[in-house]
Amino acid sequence: MGEKLKDAGAVQKPYPFCSTDGALLPGPLAYVRPDKFPVTPCHRLVNPVRHETHFFAINPSELDAIWDLVAEAKAVVDAKDHLDGYNLGINVGEVAGETVAHAHLHVIRRYRGDVENPRGGVRGVIPAMQHY
Ligand SMILES: [Zn+2]
Repeated sequence: MGEKLKDAGAVQKPYPFCSTDGALLPGPLAYVRPDKFPVTPCHRLVNPVRHETHFFAINPSELDAIWDLVAEAKAVVDAKDHLDGYNLGINVGEVAGETVAHAHLHVIRRYRGDVENPRGGVRGVIPAMQHY
């Protein structure tokens, strides 16, 4: 899908998420796009419009816009289907699994039975520590 985080020093680099083309929910400060390699159906990414490499550097107005869009994206998905659950995830840095150096928040729709044992959820970033 994109360029590696090792290129993150170059600000304004045209990463795939720098463009709002294909946005499902556009906005002036943030927007929602489908994940190109969805973990589950309706896997969404919420991105700031402004290029920012690291999620922790996003400004408060952008964070507000991102959280509003998380709720809006969830409402759109919920209207299509019954609610089972969600995982929200932010990978910050290559060591945390980030592969596109434009901040983004994953909204991953979960379906009962999509994995054998979901206990621990995002704790699964360290697989041996997920189930406790
Ligand atoms: Zn960007």
